[in-house]
Amino acid sequence: MLGPVILAASRSDRMRRFVSAAPGTKQVVNRFIAGETVDQVVAVVEDAAAKGLEVTLDVVGEDITTPEQAAAARDAYLELIEHLKGLGLGPKAEMSVKLSMFGQALDGGHELALANVRPVVEAAAEIGTTVTLDAEDHTTLDSMFAIHDELRKDFPQTGCVIQSYLFRTERDAIRLAANGSRVRLVKGAYNEPDTVAFQNKAEIDKAYVRVLRILMEGSGYPMVGSHDPRLISIGQELARRAGRKLDEYEFQMLYGIRSEEHVRLAAEGHRMRVYTAYGTDWYGYFMRRLAEKPANLLFFLRSTITK
Ligand code: FAD
Repeated sequence: MLGPVILAASRSDRMRRFVSAAPGTKQVVNRFIAGETVDQVVAVVEDAAAKGLEVTLDVVGEDITTPEQAAAARDAYLELIEHLKGLGLGPKAEMSVKLSMFGQALDGGHELALANVRPVVEAAAEIGTTVTLDAEDHTTLDSMFAIHDELRKDFPQTGCVIQSYLFRTERDAIRLAANGSRVRLVKGAYNEPDTVAFQNKAEIDKAYVRVLRILMEGSGYPMVGSHDPRLISIGQELARRAGRKLDEYEFQMLYGIRSEEHVRLAAEGHRMRVYTAYGTDWYGYFMRRLAEKPANLLFFLRSTITK
């Protein structure tokens, strides 16, 4: 019940001001956000690499309102890629982007987002890595998939995300699995109506398994984005049955969540990629993490009250 309320609050400017100013916020935010600056995140990437982990890096921010902000988002990723150059990690450090941060919701937003994301994909390719397009709310997805198709003409490694809570996702998975895409499958983190999405956890989990089977049996590269222990072992089993080797799929989890599991899966020989978010505009990302687990909200309230 709390999840939808928190997700609604994630769109409120008044709540944004309240949460940002609350004492104790910083302490909880730091659990999920790997720093505010490029230097801080680069240190986290080096630490992850030393533990045998790979990363996908997200400069936090979304729902920008001007083309200048969209250009600034592009430049923030270009600056990040410039810093990654020296590390020589290649595909072990890739980028995740939200197209809303690149201007997708503005006038002429589809073309603007494509124009802003293309130089990021090009710069990533120059250092031997790639970009994955995150999935946002369902109204943005046709545009996201069209941009994904367009980018793949020149950069076939460009990835995208699909969400098992959406009714449309099995169809999307069939298309993407047939065309050899890199695809991250997640449950979905937005407040979606029952006209487009399953509302019940059991149905979302069952859909996750159906879609994962499609991806594992297809010709693409599946990225299993979940912390759910049951789905992770089902993922291993589906990969085995599909005859996939350990480097023909990967697991992905979020920075700050089940960190011991990241290391355990990597030690077992799995490719394990940690979605590592950083930057100053952390509000939307942070609120989705609170919505996923009510205990996080209690922790947040406790640290705010006891400050
Ligand atoms: P759940 O059933 O929610 O969680 C399983 C267990 O994991 C929980 O019992 C708990 O122990 C732990 N856990 C899960 N979430 C939290 C949390 N916030 N805090 C503490 N513990 C937690 N969603 C999108 O809509 N678009 C995206 O592009 C997107 N990208 C993602 C990338 C990655 C790598 C991952 C892992 C998730 C991404 N998500 C994205 C979020 C996703 O949709 C889910 O909201 C989130 O992963 C929680 O679902 P779960 O599969 O972990 O299962």
